[in-house]
Amino acid sequence: MNNIELSELIYPSLPHNADEFEAMYPERNLPEGAKVTRLGPSPTGFIHLGNLYGAFVDERLAHQSGGVFFLRIEDTDDKRYVENAVETIITSLAFFDIRFDEGATLTGDIGSYGDYTQSNRGDIYRAFAKKLIANGMAYPCFLTEDEITSIREEQDSKKLTPGIYAGWSKYREWDRDDELASEIESRIKAGDPFVVRLKSKGTPNLSAEDTPRHSVVDAIRGELSVPDNFQDIVIIKQTGIPTYHFAHVVDDHLMRTTHVVRGEEWLPSLPIHVELFEDLGWELPVYCHTAQLMKIGEDGNKRKLSKRKDPELSLDFYRSEGYHPAAVREYLLTILNSNYEEWRLENPDADADEFEFTTEKMSSSGALFDLDKLNDVSKNTLLHTDAAELAAWLKSWSDEFAPEYAYVFRDMDHLAEIIDLGRHDARPRADLVYARQIMDFISYFFDESFKKEDEYPEEAAADAVEILKAYLAGYDHSDDNEQWFNKIRDIATNLGYAAKPKDYKKNPDDYKGHVGHVSTVIRIAIMGRAQSPDVWAIQQILGESKVRERLEAAIGQ
Ligand code: GLU
Repeated sequence: MNNIELSELIYPSLPHNADEFEAMYPERNLPEGAKVTRLGPSPTGFIHLGNLYGAFVDERLAHQSGGVFFLRIEDTDDKRYVENAVETIITSLAFFDIRFDEGATLTGDIGSYGDYTQSNRGDIYRAFAKKLIANGMAYPCFLTEDEITSIREEQDSKKLTPGIYAGWSKYREWDRDDELASEIESRIKAGDPFVVRLKSKGTPNLSAEDTPRHSVVDAIRGELSVPDNFQDIVIIKQTGIPTYHFAHVVDDHLMRTTHVVRGEEWLPSLPIHVELFEDLGWELPVYCHTAQLMKIGEDGNKRKLSKRKDPELSLDFYRSEGYHPAAVREYLLTILNSNYEEWRLENPDADADEFEFTTEKMSSSGALFDLDKLNDVSKNTLLHTDAAELAAWLKSWSDEFAPEYAYVFRDMDHLAEIIDLGRHDARPRADLVYARQIMDFISYFFDESFKKEDEYPEEAAADAVEILKAYLAGYDHSDDNEQWFNKIRDIATNLGYAAKPKDYKKNPDDYKGHVGHVSTVIRIAIMGRAQSPDVWAIQQILGESKVRERLEAAIGQ
């Protein structure tokens, strides 16, 4: 049996051979410099901020250069598969306005470089594995778990690098041993389980100085010096499914990916990928290994975001709390590119897409994620979002995640007015952060959620009913802001309160309190809380009858 016969024995009936598959994926017809990127999430049911962070890089690189960004579902790890996970990936990314040009969608593939789901590409991987076997660059390996464990123990005791490589799997040299060759032949025919391993060309266990190295371009980290691989890594598992390494190389070559954006946890596998690309005679893509997302932990030290400890790692968190996608996008850009914030200050109203994103300006050490900072960015983003648009977006959020707030959306014009409150002042108010917080912030506008949250200030509590009665008696909805405030000042002075806080501070014994205490009583009667935007403006939005109704209710309590 020679190599070609072995490859035929293992894969007797594939629909196409490697060359035919290769011909089905011609070079893309794109302008010079156009980048082709892909997002390759695994359907584990958990889509996280790191996916989104990478997706932004992919999306910007492709769309800034007139290239293509596609979605590939990487479901080769059958143990991790979770029902509906693909839908979750697609809908979560769509929520953040990640636009793919090609790839898997909820209604099937778009594009001519598919299939875009790895589990449907089995024959393609097998065809390339077959080619490697036929060229003597890969071999079937029948080592059992137990055998591998004892190999590892022996390697440990000899202080050798663990793994299967030259000298450790007898199946590697099957062609030098006729007996072994016929054993392999009969075991394949009998259907015994085996994996296909790369027959690495690297020399094992060389000293650091003697290890050959390859120069690889990483657009974030600069030129990397990657050591030669010598591990006979598995390319096709017992199940016939490829490993990540093999699927990555075959797919990114065939799909003509120019830039592979992925997490830095893949850096240690780079030697393997370099060898696979070389063995298959393909050009390496430009790698972009993104930094881990870190946060400042409870102890003040930087640590990786963790699925268990940090709900904010899950994209679902942002959707269900109702972070506006533009805010999350804006925030991610600030951590993606160090010069983004400066650009934003100079271009406050520009579309974020006008910023020229570059991988060189990305951090190669941990990117620091900070929820407070996101909230700040969000306040500013929402301030620049049109009120009617924001109202419509809040409604779509509520429809999906918080139907209990349906009453907020009965009158969309009214809601837009509420949202706009204080946003056009000389110093605009930026109180709105995310949907759930907004629902709470505006809750006093609706009878369904209005409640007295704060107590009347101590200084004026005893006079509360009298203050409210006087205020109601003099209430004229058509008063302007100044007339309105003058009336409150009159009530205050008539009842023994200072007209100005500073007068009270100077001579506290001369007064019961000051005008602020009086107006807080009114504020609490109408809004239920001691802090709120301008009372007069709120009254204008609430309408005269609602204001009177709230005052009467508070007097009656
Ligand atoms: N499926 C891989 C993951 O979820 C993607 C890595 C890559 O983009 O190459 O980690």
